[in-house]
Amino acid sequence: MKIVIVGHVDHGKSTLIGRLFYDTNSLPKSKFEEIKQLCDSLGKDVEFGYVMDHFEEERNQGITIDTTQTFFKTPKREYAIIDAPGHVEFVKNMITGASQADAAILLIDAGEGIKEQTRRHAYILAMLGLKHVILAINKMDLVGYDSRRFDALKTEALTFLKTLGIEPTYVVPIAAKDGDNIAKKSKKMDWFSGMTILQALDKFETSKGLDKNPLRFPVQDIYNFDKRIIAGRIASGSLRKGDKIILLPSKETTRVKSIEEYAKNTAQAGSGKSIGITTEDKVFADRGNVIIKKGEIQPVVTNSIACHIFWMDPAPFKKGERLLFKCATQEVMCDMEVKQVIDSSTFNIVSNDSGSIENRQVADVIIKTEKPLVVENFNNIPVLGRFVLQRQDTCAGGIITGF
Ligand code: GDP
Repeated sequence: MKIVIVGHVDHGKSTLIGRLFYDTNSLPKSKFEEIKQLCDSLGKDVEFGYVMDHFEEERNQGITIDTTQTFFKTPKREYAIIDAPGHVEFVKNMITGASQADAAILLIDAGEGIKEQTRRHAYILAMLGLKHVILAINKMDLVGYDSRRFDALKTEALTFLKTLGIEPTYVVPIAAKDGDNIAKKSKKMDWFSGMTILQALDKFETSKGLDKNPLRFPVQDIYNFDKRIIAGRIASGSLRKGDKIILLPSKETTRVKSIEEYAKNTAQAGSGKSIGITTEDKVFADRGNVIIKKGEIQPVVTNSIACHIFWMDPAPFKKGERLLFKCATQEVMCDMEVKQVIDSSTFNIVSNDSGSIENRQVADVIIKTEKPLVVENFNNIPVLGRFVLQRQDTCAGGIITGF
């Protein structure tokens, strides 16, 4: 499971990360010793923030192999913490799918309360539609582990988050520095009967890549050999010989006659597999169609979608320009109407009447395509909810938020 830890500067993000590593024994002993010695020599307590700074330094020197993720493990599963080196990179990676978090921990300093970056980061979480959110009220030691302070801040934060449409699944009072309510229940906050951070994380379900998801089989090509084969890669769900299928957007229905994997015939295929199928009836299939299963949740067929896009071309988008829209194997020309533009490093709304979008800006847009698309909300099934826009090269990535 991929998680991201966000919050205002100095509210304890690196300390919490260090703690998670330490308390799950995911930190090599040698590394911890090294940091301990460093802290001793400086006459300081071992600050878990140093652990992360240490990683950072290694990364800057190009020592660590994996530059974007670090891992820790519970008995249930492995977690990767996605790096958020800056807002811009973070938003870009999330939108383009380079790294997509399954869950987020939003930290608020119990003493300081909600600050500017708390708001901005919460906005990003809302924009990306992250469903699994833990609100952690940190530095409880600084407010004497006071339950009333926790309750008051919790109420204030939940009210604010609600305005953005975020409803944290868990709210946990912690002291990251001392490890209270991170891996172990805190004895200093016996008034709190909820879960620790690790217990809460372990409760979240990931939905990715599971064969249980509805079938989404974007058609890549049609081959006419002695039989007619519809080829593609199963993006989600699974397919069996005999399944009743629907071709979208035409809505033609038929049954799967055979499934052909490379050079062999098989009865069943799951998510991630590249296959070809033959059908019982002759259907009109084309590249860009999406095959789904009868009786499962259906995607939306439309030529108008609401989305968030991240513009990543030095040449700005200008009102009236037509772009190529690409989602799974679908490719179609589109028009774009700009609703709102946001600076991705400050998250300020850019006053903009010209309908243009500059490099590294995020925009709320309505896209209208020449032909109907088979799409869905990014949060349901990312493969049909994420797209790119192209001129000669890719100029933007986007996620679909509504229709
Ligand atoms: P970041 O900027 O969000 O990554 O915050 P850091 O993890 O660097 O923490 C900022 C400061 O807060 C450091 O001096 C930490 O030692 C301190 N800090 C973090 N967690 C706690 C806590 O639970 N209690 C106290 N008293 N200080 C904390």
